[in-house]
Amino acid sequence: MSDLTLDMQQTAQPASAAERTALLQNPAFGRVFTDHMITLRHTKERGWHDWRLEPRQPLALDPATLSLHYALEIFEGLKAYRLPDGGAALFRPDANARRFRASAERMAMPLLPEELFTDSVRALVRTDRAWIPTAEGASLYLRPFMIGTEVALPPKPATEHLFCVIASPVASYFKGGAKGVTLWVSENYTRAAPGGTGAAKCGGNYAASLVAQAEGEREGCEQVVFLDAVERRWVEELGGMNVFFVFDDGALQTPPLTGTILPGITRDSLITLARGMGLTVREEPYAIDQWQADAQSGRLREAFACGTAAVVAPIGHVKGRRHGFVIGNGEAGPVATRLKAALTDIQFGRTSGPQGWLDRLF
Ligand SMILES: *Cc1c(COP(=O)(O)O)cnc(C)c1O
Repeated sequence: MSDLTLDMQQTAQPASAAERTALLQNPAFGRVFTDHMITLRHTKERGWHDWRLEPRQPLALDPATLSLHYALEIFEGLKAYRLPDGGAALFRPDANARRFRASAERMAMPLLPEELFTDSVRALVRTDRAWIPTAEGASLYLRPFMIGTEVALPPKPATEHLFCVIASPVASYFKGGAKGVTLWVSENYTRAAPGGTGAAKCGGNYAASLVAQAEGEREGCEQVVFLDAVERRWVEELGGMNVFFVFDDGALQTPPLTGTILPGITRDSLITLARGMGLTVREEPYAIDQWQADAQSGRLREAFACGTAAVVAPIGHVKGRRHGFVIGNGEAGPVATRLKAALTDIQFGRTSGPQGWLDRLF
């Protein structure tokens, strides 16, 4: 489809092996970066051009760059996993490439061909392969993103864009085992409204959610759970993770993708894996009051959040102005534990999953 070739400009000053080893000891999420990055430009006249792998470096932006003023930004998040034989693989990068196009469409940005997305990510991981951690549960997090780079102040779709991929080695997200996260039910803020950008992976959604996150932290909670913007009743998702409920009959439930929820690839993968285990999975709305009632009656056995960064995060406690309840004994339940193991076994190449899920790089 595309006749672009990647111009490889490797750094003359990569981190030394000793520096890298020190940085890879126990990296906090998103604080350590690899030697290189990918850049690719788009203009209305030239289409996609200037596809480069280059030393990781600051971007020079004019202060009137559109993305700085009107949040013309979308992103993705996926990981490269170290395999038992020393090789490495991506997990469902084609799904990220498709979602990136969907986000671009919503934000009036150019649609990046799927293979330019996946080939960019693959090239960066292959070049910076020494940065893929080997510690248990650790991986190399990839952050593809796109910004509108046209220099103009009238709010309008940009005619120039930059696509970029950076990479960051990450330790296992949640250490210390089975303890569940504590959620704050946001009553003052919503994340996404019908017709808005909730289903697009864009920085603006996060910018709007951080005040709720700060409120939750003041209340002693680690994450926020958002309710729907219309009735303020239906559980939607966390700031950056989808949510699942597990009932006493063994069935799972997760809110349906009606446009205000981010269609998580972890969510989709867990639905497939759970159904493969013979479990019932319903994609149906679940009310916050019902959640409290079911947790108290024991009908609800488990709840967990899921996303690429944390994989599966059991939910222990839920607090809010009108709510306060514990789920089970506040720790990881058997279904969450089993699904997490099934998914990570596939991602790390310990078992084979559905055809096409693992994209082996070397
Ligand atoms: C990225 C993201 C998720 C999780 O998606 P995955 O593809 O599973 O990583 C969930 N909710 C929001 C708001 C997100 O941005």
